[in-house]
Amino acid sequence: MSFSRQAQFKKLADSYDICVIGGGATGAGVALDATLRGYKVIVIERGDFASQTSSKSTKLVHGGVRYLEQAVKNLDWQQFKMVYKALHERKIMLQNAPHLAHPLALLTPCYSWFDRAYYRIGMWLYDKIAGATNLKDSRGLNKKEIQKEVPALNLKKIVGGILYYDGQMNDSRYALSILQEAERLGATVLNYTELSSFTCSHKSLKIKEVLVKDLIGNKEFQFNVRAVVNATGPFTDKIRKLANPNLQERMKVSRGAHIVLEKKFWPGDTALLIPKTDDGRVVFLLPWRGYVLVGTTDDADKLSENPIIFEEEKTYLLEYFNRFALEKASPSDIKAGFVGLRPLLQVQLQTAMQADTKSIVRDHEVEVDRRSKLVSIMGGKWTTYRIMAEDTLDILEAEVLHVPKSPCLTKNHPIMGGEHFDADLFLNSKILTSETRRHLYETYGSLAPRVIEFCQNIPKGTELLLDGLPYLQGEIDYLKKHEMATCWDDVVNRRWGIGLRDEALGRKLEDKKKEAFASIS
Ligand SMILES: Cc1cc2nc3c(=O)[nH]c(=O)nc-3n(C[C@H](O)[C@H](O)[C@H](O)COP(=O)(O)OP(=O)(O)OC[C@H]3O[C@@H](n4cnc5c(N)ncnc54)[C@H](O)[C@@H]3O)c2cc1C
Repeated sequence: MSFSRQAQFKKLADSYDICVIGGGATGAGVALDATLRGYKVIVIERGDFASQTSSKSTKLVHGGVRYLEQAVKNLDWQQFKMVYKALHERKIMLQNAPHLAHPLALLTPCYSWFDRAYYRIGMWLYDKIAGATNLKDSRGLNKKEIQKEVPALNLKKIVGGILYYDGQMNDSRYALSILQEAERLGATVLNYTELSSFTCSHKSLKIKEVLVKDLIGNKEFQFNVRAVVNATGPFTDKIRKLANPNLQERMKVSRGAHIVLEKKFWPGDTALLIPKTDDGRVVFLLPWRGYVLVGTTDDADKLSENPIIFEEEKTYLLEYFNRFALEKASPSDIKAGFVGLRPLLQVQLQTAMQADTKSIVRDHEVEVDRRSKLVSIMGGKWTTYRIMAEDTLDILEAEVLHVPKSPCLTKNHPIMGGEHFDADLFLNSKILTSETRRHLYETYGSLAPRVIEFCQNIPKGTELLLDGLPYLQGEIDYLKKHEMATCWDDVVNRRWGIGLRDEALGRKLEDKKKEAFASIS
């Protein structure tokens, strides 16, 4: 069975144990966990998988150095627990998809001896909290060592720095691969399908049926359910209110912008953490798949499906980049810019209504609506998607299905493409060019040889789509048939991600093969 819309519609059943609404990081995690526990699962996603916040993150798999600082400063046990959990999840995320997530070295530059001691202790604590799951110990660097490690950094006034390690990932593909794995194990997974409404039991008022609109085929379908999980991130309140209009709003949305520059402005593999901007936040300069990612901002915003980056945000991020980089970039050097909406959970409703979004704890909460039994998983972050899913399923089993807790099996379960594979052998082989081999491995992991075989069976399939880029002509058909790509946006902005790194290149690829998606329904 292929991972195409056609195949999923064929698989569609009259009833499911669990319907997951939302195909971002959170919904994907819930779908895999539930399928591994033996439930019959369906996922509906209104856009493409990970097309909202889950493809617009800073791509860090991290505990959060800033959250640790807040935890210590405010003696906040909740915040500390969140850093602990995320640091342990970091290793698991890297293990379960080594082609999509890897360790990343980051430098924190220090401009006073006090700062150097302060951040040295902080990073030491960060390592200790990670314990046996630590990726590599942090260490202090002098100016000369910094020059060697981060040659792009402007060393003016620097007294030293701290080098530490976190993870970096391909966020959109990570979500897609979790969903593909859930589907392989039996789940029905559909993009471009939107929740229309719920039908509730007359007697108990519990949701018993879900009505869904297929946004491509323009038709509706319905199925019976035992439980519904609302994993719609920033859109959570809309679904909660659909299930029970009496519920109070719980989410607060904050926007985070990034800009992307050419790699020449930040050569090398080490990222920079700017620990304190003038407005008291952190900004990262990150090497990212042949480019430099600079972000992010944190400002309260309204809910919208396609937030676009403002000129002020570009100027703000460029200014920070230029403060720290030796080679200055100008606005015309910006290759791409994107914005994500953080689904922040208002913890104490009264105070959080006025709260500044920077100070809201990035933890999660599972809510079961007493009337409809809708299970909403709210808040959290990418790095903690797996434990968010585990908590959701544990609570769903206890409070909605009323069954004994079944074991969560996701911890040591590789996601699609992440199972054991001799990557070195593949990367050092003589098939195609080394750039294409790297692209295929970093995109499909252990499925890379299968993609090559697929392309070999299509006329001109192993030819390059555009000279100078690693993408193969045959990959487009592969993405349609095995990754549910329905339009160029799905390919360029998520399956390959090049559109979020370099908008002009994304458009150039699209122009080359415009007709490729004419036949999708
Ligand atoms: C700027 C920024 C940077 C971040 N950086 C990091 C980071 O570096 N590391 C980290 O760990 N975390 C990071 N995060 C947090 C992380 O990205 C989010 O917590 C996570 O992606 C949220 O995933 P989600 O699935 O809950 O939401 P989403 O990805 O938004 O998914 C919800 C989905 O529900 C769908 N949906 C909505 N309504 C309906 C409906 N009616 N029917 C069907 N589907 C529907 C939407 O289309 C959407 O795809 C960052 C967040 C932002 C905004």
